[in-house]
This record gives sequence, structure tokens and C-alpha cells, in this order.
Amino acid sequence: MLMNALRETDPEIYDAIIREVNRIEHGVELIPSENFVSRAVMQAMSSVFTNKYSEGYPGKRYYGGQENVDDVELLAINRAKELFGAEHVNVQPYSGSPANHAVYMALLELGDKFMGMDLSCGGHLTHGSPVNFSGLHYKLVPYFVDKETEMLDMDVVRKIAETEKPKMIISSLTAYPRKLPFKEFCDIAKDVDAYSVADISHIAGLIVGGVHESPCEYTDVTTTTTHKSLRGPRGAIIMSKIEDQYHDLYHKDTKKNLAQLIDSAVFPGLQGGPHDHVIAAKAVAFKEAMKPEFKDYSKQIVKNAKVMADELMSLGIKLVTNGTDNHLMLIDLRPSGLGGKGKQLQNALDKAGITVNKNSVPYDDASPFNPSGLRLGTPAVTSRGMKESEMQHIAQSIAVVIKNYKDESKLKEIKAEISELVSAYPIYPGLSVLG
Ligand SMILES: *Cc1c(COP(=O)(O)O)cnc(C)c1O
Repeated sequence: MLMNALRETDPEIYDAIIREVNRIEHGVELIPSENFVSRAVMQAMSSVFTNKYSEGYPGKRYYGGQENVDDVELLAINRAKELFGAEHVNVQPYSGSPANHAVYMALLELGDKFMGMDLSCGGHLTHGSPVNFSGLHYKLVPYFVDKETEMLDMDVVRKIAETEKPKMIISSLTAYPRKLPFKEFCDIAKDVDAYSVADISHIAGLIVGGVHESPCEYTDVTTTTTHKSLRGPRGAIIMSKIEDQYHDLYHKDTKKNLAQLIDSAVFPGLQGGPHDHVIAAKAVAFKEAMKPEFKDYSKQIVKNAKVMADELMSLGIKLVTNGTDNHLMLIDLRPSGLGGKGKQLQNALDKAGITVNKNSVPYDDASPFNPSGLRLGTPAVTSRGMKESEMQHIAQSIAVVIKNYKDESKLKEIKAEISELVSAYPIYPGLSVLG
């Protein structure tokens, strides 16, 4: 990737990019929502499509010169339909949060009641947090994981739905290390005449790889970011059924079907011109995700997570739900006597070249700024080609850091070891020589 023009025009930004390349090449990236996209995806993102204005949808735009943009958007839509088994797809959402915002606008009236997973149990900010539009403009009725098992109890979810009669039920995860029972969520939603929405942002890559089941067959609406396990550019898509078969109570005045409701919520409801360069990159990522190699990749993500989880637990580290079914793990620091020390541990791991994020654990008494958990995941390290033995090594390093988090020389030692370990797995060969 040649960046000569950038080096000349803006050496400060250029240097920051080179430093970032060095940071990711020499460290271990375990934030479960991150990944490393291909050079092809990056090239599409830095293409001339960044210049185009194309408000509207293919064949129905407000500006001229759309023949190439239309081709790109239709390719992205059709590939996403095939990948997820979706009836209708909108590829224009700028990111996961605006995608979810559009869904609320499409399905609810302001102040309407909806159900989502409590943030401390692994829900997302856009699922009703009091500081987010979703909690400010709509009324969240949260469901929680069971205090003992730390897993979802669908009988409890059903009881809450039957009592509260929400208009929408969201199934989703950001820190829940288990499979979600999408079909059961949908059955409950149908029974209480609510819309079923699945937000599969974290696990989209596992779904297209066939490791987890796609919810699109059941749910009314499914949203996903494209930049997490799916390994595409920063952005999101919304998938939906076309017809609304169950909820003629709502929106009967608009005469719009579900697909039209979603499309008009995205544009003109919430967004202006779509980011055509990112839509082009989404199409490229979808094409990559259709290849048999992507199936192997997503299987390996889960295998790697299981091995890392087993190794951590064998070293005496407590994991929420005692394991994982997906790409992520949540360490509960409380049994190690480190409750409320998530931030210190995250910083210590940073010093050791291991990037994770502090996270609340279910029923955490500590503040979200210094919670009792650490969240880790395997999509990014698996993209580098790392396998089971590297996962064991990394887990052992994490255990050493947790036991010695105040010992600066120990952290340095681990950092050197980690740098050595990852040197065999370059992410973007050739990119760092630009410096
Ligand atoms: C990441 C994520 C989002 C938000 O995506 P952004 O692109 O950060 O706005 C929404 N929902 C879930 C479940 C997520 O994991």
C-alpha cells in the first residue's frame, strides 16, 4: 500500500498510522469486537467512491452519475442476502449504532416499551442504556442472566414479555459468551405481538461461517455491524422480512411493509448520503466471507476461544459461565481477589503487549469505569493465522500478568515474549516498511 502522498501532505497523521501499524504488528489484539480487514477491503475503502453523493436507493437517486454506485450497492445487497439468508437488506447504515437507531424509528413510537439484555449482563449501549438515545427516547424493560448460572433463562424472558407486553424484543450480545436462542426469542415475540429484532454484530462472522445459526429465518429484523467477526469495513447493515405478517396493529396508517419501513427510516429518516466507498468495501468483505476459507476461519475462531478459555480456567482464572460457545470470554476478577480492578489489569496487559477491554461482569458491584471483568476474544488473532498452541501461550501470559500486574519488569518481560510470538504472524506484510 503506497502512501507517498500522505507522507508528503501530512507527516503527523502519516507517522501516527505507521506507529499504529507497529502497535498492532507487535502486540496481541484480543478486543472481541476488533479484527484486521484484508488489503482488498482497505483498497475499496480508499477508492474514489468516497467522493460520490448518492442519496436514495439503486434506481431511485436524487443525483446524477449513479450507474457505478448502483452496481456496487446492488452487489453488496445481493451478497448479503445470500450470506445470511435474508429477504431484504439495507447496506447504507454508517455503523451499528445508527443501524439500531433506524430500527427503533421504523418499528416504535417515541416512548414505546421494548425488551433488551441488561448492559451489565452483556447488552449493548443501543439496547436501552439510560445515556443513549435508546434509553432516553424509548422505555427499556431489561432481561438479565441468571445469577447462579450466568446464562439466559428463557422462561424468565417469556414471563417478563407476557407481563410487560413490549412492542419489540431485541436478542443480542456483546459480552455474553454463549449462543443465543434466536428461535425462542422469536416465538416469545410472536406470542406477545412484539417485533423480534436480533443484533448479531459480534457473531456475524460465526453465522456466515456456519458455526452459529442465522436468525434471519425467524426474526422480523436483524442488524449487524460489518467490522467485527465478519471482517469487513466499519459499518453496518439491516436485514429484514419484507412483509409484516404479525403486527398489523402497528403502522397500519403508513401502508408500508417492513422492508419499506426500514429503508425510509435509514434514508431520509436518519441519514443523508450513503458512504459509497464503505458500501464497496462491504461488498468485498461479503465476497470474501462466501469463500470456503472463511468457514475454516470462523471455525478456528471458536476453537481458539475454547482452547484459550480452557487454559485460563486451568490456571485458576474464573470465566463468566465457565467457558464459551463463541468468540469471546469474560474474565471475572472477583474470585482472584481483584474485584473492581478491571482498569488496572487492562493497563497492565497493555504494558505487556496484550490488548483487552475492561468490562462489567453480571451483578458487578464495581463501577463501569473500574469494573470487575476483562473481555477477550479471538477474531483478530485468528485472522493472523494463530492457532491453538498460540492461544495457550497467550492465556499463560495473561495469567502471569494477572498475578503480577504491579511488577513492571515482569510486564516488560511478557511484552518481549509476546512480540517474539507474534513476529511469525505478520498482519500486513510490507506495510510497516513504509516507516
Ligand atoms: C458494536 C455493536 C454495536 C454498535 O456498533 P458501532 O459501529 O460501534 O456503532 C451495536 N450492537 C452490538 C450488539 C454491538 O456489538
